[in-house]
Parts: sequence; C-alpha cells; structure tokens
Amino acid sequence: MDSSSAYDAVVVGAGPNGLAAAITLARKGYGVLVLEAKDTVGGGMRSMQVTLPGFCHDMCSAIHPLGLGSPFMRSIPLEKYGVEWIQPPVALAHPLDGGRAVLIEKSLESTATRLGGDGPAYRRLMFPIAKHWGELSEDLLGPLPIPPRHPLLLTGFGLKAIRSANGLARSLFQGEEARAVFAGMSGHSMLPLEKPITAGFGMLLGGLAHVVGWPLPRYGSQSIADALAAYLNDLGGEIRTSSPVKSLKDLPQARVVLFDLTPRQLLEITGEHLPRRYRHQLGGYRYGPGVFKIDYALDGPIPWQAPGVDQAGTVHLGGTLDEIASAERAVWQGEIPERPLVLLAQQSLFDSSRAPAGKHTAWVYCHVPHASTVDMTTRIEAQIERFAPGFGDLVLSRRTHNAQEMQAYNPNYVGGDINGGVQDLRQFFTRPVARWVPYSTPDKSIYLCSSSTPPGGGVHGMCGFYAARAAIRQSLQ
Ligand SMILES: Cc1cc2nc3c(=O)[nH]c(=O)nc-3n(C[C@H](O)[C@H](O)[C@H](O)COP(=O)(O)OP(=O)(O)OC[C@H]3O[C@@H](n4cnc5c(N)ncnc54)[C@H](O)[C@@H]3O)c2cc1C
Repeated sequence: MDSSSAYDAVVVGAGPNGLAAAITLARKGYGVLVLEAKDTVGGGMRSMQVTLPGFCHDMCSAIHPLGLGSPFMRSIPLEKYGVEWIQPPVALAHPLDGGRAVLIEKSLESTATRLGGDGPAYRRLMFPIAKHWGELSEDLLGPLPIPPRHPLLLTGFGLKAIRSANGLARSLFQGEEARAVFAGMSGHSMLPLEKPITAGFGMLLGGLAHVVGWPLPRYGSQSIADALAAYLNDLGGEIRTSSPVKSLKDLPQARVVLFDLTPRQLLEITGEHLPRRYRHQLGGYRYGPGVFKIDYALDGPIPWQAPGVDQAGTVHLGGTLDEIASAERAVWQGEIPERPLVLLAQQSLFDSSRAPAGKHTAWVYCHVPHASTVDMTTRIEAQIERFAPGFGDLVLSRRTHNAQEMQAYNPNYVGGDINGGVQDLRQFFTRPVARWVPYSTPDKSIYLCSSSTPPGGGVHGMCGFYAARAAIRQSLQ
C-alpha cells in the first residue's frame, strides 16, 4: 500500500460505469483515483484502427440511445468535451426477404404509418415510453425502485415489459414486419424470446428511438470515453492507465474501492477477504451467451437491396420473428445458429472520420454460446449477402474476435458476455446478488459499480452513478 497518497475513493476500471462512479464522487468533492488495466480509458467505449490504416472501428459499443437517454449521461456536458452526436435519418432498418425493410425513424408517427395495419398497435406500445421517458428512466435505469417514483407509469410499462417478446409481438401485431422488427430489438436481451422481460428490451430500445434516436458519436465511441475522462480530470479526479489490479495489495490507501468489474474478477482480487456466505452468493452469479464480432474495412457502401436501409445507422439481419426466436433459443441452448441474428452498424455512411474517402466500415456481431470459439464469419456474411448481394466483393479487410477473444480483450466480457451477466427476470434488478443495496458488499469499503449491477449492460453510466451514491451514503459521509 502507498500510504503517501491516500484517496477517498479508488475506482478499478475506466469503463463507462467506472468513470461515472468517479465523476459522481469527484462532483461531491471526494478525492478519486481511477486505476485502469489497459493503456487507454474507455472499457467498452474504445475505437481503434484494427483493419487497415485510416479505418476507425468501435471495438465494442457503437450506437448510443442510452448514451443520450440516461439521466447520468444527460447531466454531463459531453458536447463541451468534444462529443458530437450524429443522428442517421433512420435509427434502425430491419430488412426482410424480397427486398423489403422495416424502418424505425425518430418520428413515431411516420414509423407507425409505415407499419400499415400494425401502426396503431405499435404507436400505442411506444407512445407512453416516448412521452414519459424522463420519468420512466428514473425508475427503470437503476436498482429495483421501492417504492417507485412514478408508480402508475411504471405499472403501465411493467405489465407489458414483463412479458416475452414472442408473446407480446404475437398478441399485438398481425404482420410479419412489426413482429420481426420487435424481435430484433428484443434480441438485445441475449435471452430466448420466449422468456419473461424480453419484451421489455424491445420496448425500451424501440421507445428510445422515438425519444433520443439511436445516435453515434463522431470519431467513434472513444470520444465519449475521452470526454468523461477529461471532465473527471477537470473535477480533480486522477486516472492511472496501464495499472491492472490483481489483488487488494495493488490498491493505494483509500476509504472505499469501487470495482468496475464483474463478480468473478472481484472474487479473484479479494481472495478470502469477503465473508464466505457472500463469496458463495457471488460464485452463483450467472454469465450468459457471448458474441462473435467482425470489423470490416469496405471498398464502398453496403449494397442493400431494400430501399431505406442505407439511411439507417443500425441494421438487424435476422429475418422474421420465428427465425430470430429460433436463433436466440439455439444460442441459449449452447448450439450454433445457422442463421444468427446479426447486428450491424454502418457508421461511416454518416461520419466521414471513420474511413478514407469513398471507403467504408461495418461493425458487426452476432450472439454465440458462452465462451464459444466457433468462427461465425461465413454464417454472418451469408446473412449480410442475403439482404445485400455483392457485399463480399467489397471486403478489403476484416478483423474477427470470437467470444473467448472478446474476454481476452476485456476481462469483463466473461465468456464473451457483453452485459456483465445474464439479464433475465431473476438477475435483472438483483444483480449481482439479492441485497437491499446491490452495489454494496459486506465490507463497507468495497463496492461493485459495473454492468453486473443494476441496470445492467450498455453505455449509460447508471451503475456507476448509483454505486457511488451508495458509497457516499454508507461509507464516506
Ligand atoms: C461488441 C459489443 C457491442 C456493444 N454495443 C453496444 C452499443 O452499441 N451500445 C451500448 O450502449 N453498449 C454496447 N455494448 C455494451 C457496453 O460496451 C458495455 O455494457 C459497457 O461498456 C459496460 O460498462 P462497464 O463500465 O460496466 O464495463 P467495461 O466497459 O467493460 O469497463 C471495465 C474496465 O475495467 C478494466 N479492467 C478490467 N479488469 C481490470 C483490472 N483487474 N484492473 C484494472 N482495470 C481492469 C477494463 O480494461 C475496462 O476498461 C457493446 C459491447 C460489446 C462488446
């Protein structure tokens, strides 16, 4: 221990949640040090040249409805620190066979109109979220709200959100288009679409498209990380990169330590320090499926068959509700889907900083069984070719990461799980374990602040924000 430099708080890990925790503490005047294992900050918000010179790729997060929609992120002067949000004309495109595509625009009205007969049902589903996101976000993006701040709104949302995406889509929508696009958005849960609360993911992401859009930051998600780090610096916080923490002995003296890590890493670092019962509970924490990621350098824009897909920042390639449900079910059961749900972002169409003139990037991943080493390149490219014949001819270079390589890239992606653990009904609000204050541990100087705490995965900073508030309330005041 370095007794010459005592801090109020040390944060381990400079991902969005670690930085959010540090900022929340520094704003209250506490002395904070962030220790980051890698030589750059950002965690899941890093952008790099991993294919050819001049091509900039988002290694993890790319599209940021939660970056604009979370109460914590809204409280940060991100634009002042260089973040420039770009709103593609279409938030999401979902191509279907036969040259058709469902387009989700920021305007709820025109999206509903495009959905024809299912338009009114889509509008009824998304309108309350779009209208009341400010209030709903206070209850949804945090620990289980007891009592809720907005009980009527939350009940209205919750009664539908708790359902399975499969059940809700089939009961609300008659047409293939609306069912398919809802299934694609719900697929972000990384759960079988027959499971409870998968509808909630589709509702949340769909609703956000009509509140803040699905924006991408110019120069890549690294610009969000750099802005958060610069803001922290201006608040007096300190960041040390290339500083992996392997055991409690690696930590300088501090009143509290907040770990932007998942339970498995916390157990490794703390050894037998925490009580046996809590260690046992943490040991039972469940991790979910992984991802297989491909970054492409392309010789031109992707030749989508359906009109309008070239206007979208994000494209979901999975076909119908039945196909997507079957792919996600297979992944959950440890099987490789032949036709996976492919999530694709085409940032360079809207941000010229991402590729040399006339060239383009594509950011692509699909879900795979936990820790899978299967190469999904052929299956992913078959899905892209299905809706954009000729794609393969444009590939100048590709860089792949299987689920285990994702974990090697960032140890928080255990088995390639990008959400810091399964986000099902049982583990959504009670992550990492069922405790009144889930961020706390039995040791009043140790907190968890990663996406393994509520409200889970995504670049929103809310886990870090709530963890820091808990640390202030319980240990620092
Ligand atoms: C392929 C992919 C696509 C994604 N797409 C999106 C998207 O479009 N939009 C979105 O909102 N989210 C997306 N996400 C999810 C998002 O990136 C994560 O949910 C988010 O980054 C989690 O934040 P965190 O702060 O909890 O952890 P992380 O961002 O993982 O940060 C943890 C940090 O801790 C560091 N660290 C780990 N171990 C140690 C140690 N022992 N000592 C010191 N430091 C350590 C790591 O290097 C890392 O910097 C995506 C993720 C992936 C992988």
